[in-house]
Amino acid sequence: MTQALAPTSRIGILGGGQLGRMLALSAARMGLDVVIFDPEPDCPASRVAAETVTAAYDDLDAVAKFAASVDAVTYEFENVPAATAAAAAEHAPLRPGAKALDVAQDRLTEKTFLNAHGATTVAFRPVSTLAELHTAISELGLPAILKTRRFGYDGKGQAVIREMSDAEEALAAMNGQPAILEAFADFTHELSIVAARGVDGEVRAYPLSENRHSDGILRESLAPAKVSDETTKTALGMATRVLDALEYVGVMGMELFALKDGTLLVNEIAPRVHNTGHWTQDACTVCQFEQHIRAVAGWPLGDPVPHASARMVNLIGHDADAWEDWLKTPNAVLHLYGKRETRDGRKMGHVNVLGSL
Ligand code: AMP
Repeated sequence: MTQALAPTSRIGILGGGQLGRMLALSAARMGLDVVIFDPEPDCPASRVAAETVTAAYDDLDAVAKFAASVDAVTYEFENVPAATAAAAAEHAPLRPGAKALDVAQDRLTEKTFLNAHGATTVAFRPVSTLAELHTAISELGLPAILKTRRFGYDGKGQAVIREMSDAEEALAAMNGQPAILEAFADFTHELSIVAARGVDGEVRAYPLSENRHSDGILRESLAPAKVSDETTKTALGMATRVLDALEYVGVMGMELFALKDGTLLVNEIAPRVHNTGHWTQDACTVCQFEQHIRAVAGWPLGDPVPHASARMVNLIGHDADAWEDWLKTPNAVLHLYGKRETRDGRKMGHVNVLGSL
């Protein structure tokens, strides 16, 4: 029997970026104190948290001390080192657990795991050498995408292969790291499902969103996505099987490709709150950040039903300079992350523009 944490309990969060910041804000509203662990003292989350521990993620003594000072530990990024997660889990419940990190950190492990649990993906092959790459291309066909197995995000560490002659350059772009060749998904649109699992195993999911990327970075989400009941059912089924198999506690994002014939393929999972779930902040009574904190605290999950439709617009780099215009836009809710330096490609904030359902 898992005990629900009492209000005023302390939640530790590994990582202090914008996701940690928005988790801390939701936790604070519910009377919970957040302790952020981040190497950067002036990180976005530190300025809204009860406390911040400034240390490197591989400083395991600092991680142990941090975890011993809180009632549960969670994280806002999937590349938490395994040793860090293990050190934290010795002193407090780690939610989601280490298995979710293990699966999400390596694209090969992830796709193998997903397929084993009825969440279909594109065909894929592990690749380390040019000979392996040539064989994989002849098996999967072209175009195909070569990706590093680990540490890729927002389209980084990826190369599209259109002709056999692109193979060598694509492999060189992996910088000697183990890679995976993925068949190209000829999708009509990209969707995602953001779902939560509580300590008691209950699963609750928000409606799907439709997502538009450019240069590998999410630009906009429209929610609820205009998809059939069948599509929603398929996505929910895949998310539920994965959450159960991971004995997951918290919110997970699952990115999907929708093909012309209605097939849904999973691109990847994120063991954390997700950029494509930001629309829930203003269109749902219980947003993804509150939902995650509720799960981590062992509290009942909230109702994921929206009361409005939303267009979430990411403010990337100098997009955020238009913040005053967004303040004057009807039905728009501005979220800025408090980052002091604007850089190209950096997520500075987002806007939720609400409409009727
Ligand atoms: P990822 O870093 O894997 O999330 O990929 C970033 C973006 O690249 C995705 O949102 C897609 O737009 C595109 N992409 C990734 N993998 C594939 C694939 N196998 N087929 C087609 N497009 C892809």
